Amino acid sequence: MDCIFCKIVNEEIPCYKIAENEHAIAFLDIMPITKGHFLVIPKKHFEFAEDAPEELMANLMILATRLAAAAKKALKCDGINFIINSGKRAGQIVPHVHLHVVPRYNDDGIYWPWPQGELDNETASTLINSIENAL
Ligand code: AMP
Ligand code: ZN
Repeated sequence: MDCIFCKIVNEEIPCYKIAENEHAIAFLDIMPITKGHFLVIPKKHFEFAEDAPEELMANLMILATRLAAAAKKALKCDGINFIINSGKRAGQIVPHVHLHVVPRYNDDGIYWPWPQGELDNETASTLINSIENAL
């Protein structure tokens, strides 16, 4: 399969590997948003996070949490964003599930939140029902 992250998993191309476990591998992003930005990916190929097995996603988070705690200690960052872009509209470019761990610094010049709306009771019930029914 012509997937750049599968090639990293299979050691066909190099990466700046930080750590790995049985299910996941973590390496530095080559175009970092901030100092210490890294990615955690499953060793098995899935395109979209929501289509991957729940257990595999839990395993990604286990490695990410452990490494984020170490990165916080090592880099003395002021916060961390854990981000998964799933689908083109959501900003996903590499079609292999990956969790971005982005250390944040008080002076990094990046701002949250995105523009937000409002939620009313009727919309909330409709949304909850439709999601529950799709489970
Ligand atoms: P996304 O927009 O969520 O698909 O992000 C893909 C990320 O993968 C970007 O931040 C890229 O900089 C990063 N990336 C792409 N190729 C590599 C690579 N060979 N090694 C490390 N990071 C990569
Ligand atoms: Zn892949």
